[in-house]
Amino acid sequence: MNREIRVRFAPSPTGPLHIGGVRTALYNYLFARANGGKMILRIEDTDSQRFVPGAEDYINESLAWLGIGIDEGVREGGPYGPYKQSERKEIYRKYVDRLLADGKAYIAFDTPEELEAARAETPNFQYDASTRGRMRNSLTLPEEEVKRLIDAGERYTVRIKIEPGREVKVNDLVRGEVKVMSDILDDKVLFKSADGLPTYHLANIVDDHLMKVSHVIRGEEWLPSAPLHVLLYEALGWTDTMPEFVHLPLLLKPVGNGKLSKRDGDKLGFPVFPLEWHDPKSGEISSGYRERGYLPEAVVNFLALLGWNPGDDTELMDMDELTRKFSFDHCSKAGAKFDYQKAAWFNHEYIMRLPDEEVGRLFLPILAAKGIEGFTPEYVAKAVGMVKGRVNFIGELWDQADFFFTAPTEYAPKDVKKRWSADTPRIMGELIEVLEGIDDMTSANAEKITLDWIASKGYHLGNVMNAFRLAVVGACRGPHMFDITELMPKEEVVKRIRRAIETIPAPEAK
Ligand code: GLU
Repeated sequence: MNREIRVRFAPSPTGPLHIGGVRTALYNYLFARANGGKMILRIEDTDSQRFVPGAEDYINESLAWLGIGIDEGVREGGPYGPYKQSERKEIYRKYVDRLLADGKAYIAFDTPEELEAARAETPNFQYDASTRGRMRNSLTLPEEEVKRLIDAGERYTVRIKIEPGREVKVNDLVRGEVKVMSDILDDKVLFKSADGLPTYHLANIVDDHLMKVSHVIRGEEWLPSAPLHVLLYEALGWTDTMPEFVHLPLLLKPVGNGKLSKRDGDKLGFPVFPLEWHDPKSGEISSGYRERGYLPEAVVNFLALLGWNPGDDTELMDMDELTRKFSFDHCSKAGAKFDYQKAAWFNHEYIMRLPDEEVGRLFLPILAAKGIEGFTPEYVAKAVGMVKGRVNFIGELWDQADFFFTAPTEYAPKDVKKRWSADTPRIMGELIEVLEGIDDMTSANAEKITLDWIASKGYHLGNVMNAFRLAVVGACRGPHMFDITELMPKEEVVKRIRRAIETIPAPEAK
């Protein structure tokens, strides 16, 4: 069957989107783009109890930051809207009635207390073919009684009627055929009269059908629901248009066993959310990749490889390349260890690949926060370009490039002790004259002239150059000295050497 590729990312706005959810969204997006398909963003907010304000905006902002584009959704619109389930209430009701009329579902009046009592009475109680005969539902009560209870406003739910003894097959593109006996499934609630809303299961299936979803790509935690979904498709007469399923492997803890949790991130110091999240209730702030200084390209690349590979060992791939290579052939069933150190490595690599101008642009807010202004974008770009190889995050650039923007106010004592001797002030005085005599301060030229002078005087190369560095940088660190002095205005260099001569106490001559 040649079917239009349509996928959906269907988060519930119950809190900040977890990084695992982001990977799900990314795989949906890559698959859609790889196949010329459409990507839908559907907000599954039928569980009003768990609704968290701000969560929907957070989802939108996260996807936008990462460059995961949406073709149809709440903001984008589209031919199958509305794309928010709470706005589709009337649509679902029709299918609830159809399932009831066809005997595929039934009405249950059991109160929470009655369900509690049943659970207490029967070990491992499950509402299913073996127990529904003794519960209060439309299968056990006379028709008039059912009607009377409904008319009297008694609360009820609608449950799917699972027939036992059936083998249910879920065809998963990564896992193959997953078979389950229907006996182990329970008669899940599909609809609640209390709020007139369907539960996740019904709304999810109805919408996938109506929105013509061709592939359901979601986290492994939804695999146990898949047999029920297959049966629902069947009960609604939609087997022919049933989507293909892909259940993505779990993201695992970086160390130890089990599922990645927020606690792992807190303990080991990495975020498990794309953006910083301010919990509206508790006020708690959870860190995000964006605020930690990750580039969206790096996060995308890192996440893409948690559960998929391109078939070779290529690691660095931007969104276009990922799109070209993505397919489910190289998706793994096994959980993917969340190697957060690798995430930092990716970030380093992406900083290296960014043009210096861009790195400089990202660095500007940091300068601004320090009250530093007046440097041209070209100057900033060149400065950060010289040190970007030493950092994993934009936020680390300051410690490497500070001296380009502010003169040292103190000098590393260890380096002073080692490099500043009794005759250093005099030699630095000569250095000022040498530098002042150089017209062309480009790195190679200034280096040649300075080194010639050092050699002609018979000075110790290492001592002179390190004292020079100490004066300009404040410590014996930083990029090539003459690259620094090519960029920095000569007057500034000279000023700094003078200041060092005046402020670093010269030791007694030995
Ligand atoms: N609303 C579900 C979630 O929060 C969707 C699961 C699915 O994709 O079917 O993940």
